[in-house]
Amino acid sequence: MIGVPDLLTIDDALALVLEHARSLPGEDVPVADASGRVLAADAVARIDLPPFPSSAMDGFAVRAADTPGGLTVVGRSAAGRPADVALSAGQAIGISTGAVVPDGADAVVPVERTHGAGPVEVERVEPGENVRPRGGDIEAGDTVVQAGAVCGPAQLGALAAAGLPTVHCARRPRVAVLATGSELRGPGEALGPGEIYESNTVMLAAQLRRAGAEADVLGAVADDAAATRDALERGLDADVLLTSGGVSVGEHDLVRGLLAELGVVEVFWRVAVKPGKPVAFSTRGATLVFGLPGNPVSSFVGFELFVRPALAALQGASEPRPAFLPGRLGVSLQRSATRDELVRMRVDRDGVVQPLRGQESHMIARAANANALVLVPRGEGELAAGSPVSWLSL
Ligand code: AMP
Ligand code: MG
Repeated sequence: MIGVPDLLTIDDALALVLEHARSLPGEDVPVADASGRVLAADAVARIDLPPFPSSAMDGFAVRAADTPGGLTVVGRSAAGRPADVALSAGQAIGISTGAVVPDGADAVVPVERTHGAGPVEVERVEPGENVRPRGGDIEAGDTVVQAGAVCGPAQLGALAAAGLPTVHCARRPRVAVLATGSELRGPGEALGPGEIYESNTVMLAAQLRRAGAEADVLGAVADDAAATRDALERGLDADVLLTSGGVSVGEHDLVRGLLAELGVVEVFWRVAVKPGKPVAFSTRGATLVFGLPGNPVSSFVGFELFVRPALAALQGASEPRPAFLPGRLGVSLQRSATRDELVRMRVDRDGVVQPLRGQESHMIARAANANALVLVPRGEGELAAGSPVSWLSL
């Protein structure tokens, strides 16, 4: 468009962010504490799993060749208390699920397929039936969870089962959060004329925790150069500094100028995104600085598009980019000609998304009803109902 400088696209801006986000040094983390952590190295099984041939059923350990038939019961193998006898021809050993299949046995007849006890009449089983072979899940030395993967519940279970007491993970990013604005008041304070409750640090701290970072909320400063400079200087000790507000073109928008005075180098300012266009990204040494716009929804969206991926990259995630999912637009929607839009919507079980009323960037209460942040690419005219779209789960 004539007269409007070309703004950076979301993708180009994100690429610049990720170029600057190198993974942090590693530390050993107890597996029990590693939920949500990213592995810095492949985690390798210490043992064969299962560690011994074990029974999949309650029943009798037998030699398959002896079945069907009547067998003499010569002992019992319980979980954690294996039988002290080996099995010979014509014999059976009572066995519980998870117990060691004794030497000489090659199958387990489930108790439901047996009759009587002395001798026990067993139905026919094949060799190997109901026996979980040693190492059948994973063998010692094989990779349980790969470097760069996020440890969710199943991964943690696998790591514990494979005998790992700890895993090696990049340390959590330490993130300072600073709100700017003379109008901002704390929780419970009475509002004077023109004042509002400060909400971005609360929201960003919660987003940070979900992203695996440690939030250090520095509070809010007025639009005063000296106070803001001091607070920024403190924040620059962190791995990441998030500021909210003061990055637009108003006379009270001090953040970018003060950052420059503090030796912070701007990588970009302004992205073709709605909401959140004035977002700024800069660095000083290894510290990443995100200047998020003050409007709460702009801050929220800027975090999801740029900060969360940066935090994932700092933690060494193999896929740090936003995890967009496929969906379909439930209604037709007017597009922005110049900016990709992140629209607050409700997504149903079939992946059909419906926009919420109230899409302005100050409307955080409206945004709180959304469960999907839907990317509506810029373009001319409307995007038709039924069009494929991608969305982020909230
Ligand atoms: P700014 O980006 O500083 O121009 O702020 C844009 C809008 O967001 C203004 O209406 C501010 O009052 C509001 N705002 C800025 N910071 C916050 C904050 N921390 N919490 C809630 N609203 C904010
Ligand atoms: Mg402001």
